[in-house]
Amino acid sequence: MTTAVYFDLDLTLLQYTDDFETIFERSVPDAPDGAYERYVEVLFETFDDLSSTPYREAFSAIVSEFGVDSDPNTLATRHHERELEATTVPESTRRALETVAARRPTGILTNGALAMQQAKLSRHDIGDCVDAVVVSNDPDVAARKPSTEIFDVAEAALPADEYIYVGDTYDEDIVGARRAGWDAIHVGDDGPAGDAARVESVEDAVARILG
Ligand SMILES: [Mg+2]
Repeated sequence: MTTAVYFDLDLTLLQYTDDFETIFERSVPDAPDGAYERYVEVLFETFDDLSSTPYREAFSAIVSEFGVDSDPNTLATRHHERELEATTVPESTRRALETVAARRPTGILTNGALAMQQAKLSRHDIGDCVDAVVVSNDPDVAARKPSTEIFDVAEAALPADEYIYVGDTYDEDIVGARRAGWDAIHVGDDGPAGDAARVESVEDAVARILG
């Protein structure tokens, strides 16, 4: 019997050296008051609407509503670079991912924009060791966690008898995976305390999967 393993990307495999507001301020220096909050609001709305260009739409709102003197495409491109620069993959996480990928069908299942998520994988050289990458706002996927549809897409991409999902966000990752009939391992500290699925790290998750 085959068990496939999927990992969440942001804040599971990938960590950030700075918070999102700091990254935004590097992309839009001297942003007017309220611009960051509006950016976040539009970004999440467009993610939820399954837009393939959520960053450009969020920066378009900032330019038109706050009079920021720049082009939305320029801002989105700059932000893409600033966000990438603020990402890191701990060596212990990388080794754990490579260990499980050598032993089980393994994929990455992430909510995000296709170009941004692919750029993160390629910057940290972690896309090549996995067998499948499923990104919510890829027009060919067009479904976001916690909806069951994105887990169905992941199953089709990596046929197996059973699935395990490793993620940091309880309501999206753990609830979504279980609703799709998957086992789940939680590497975050949100959600109910005492859930048996919770572990401290990706290394611990992999030890549990292979143990
Ligand atoms: Mg995450």
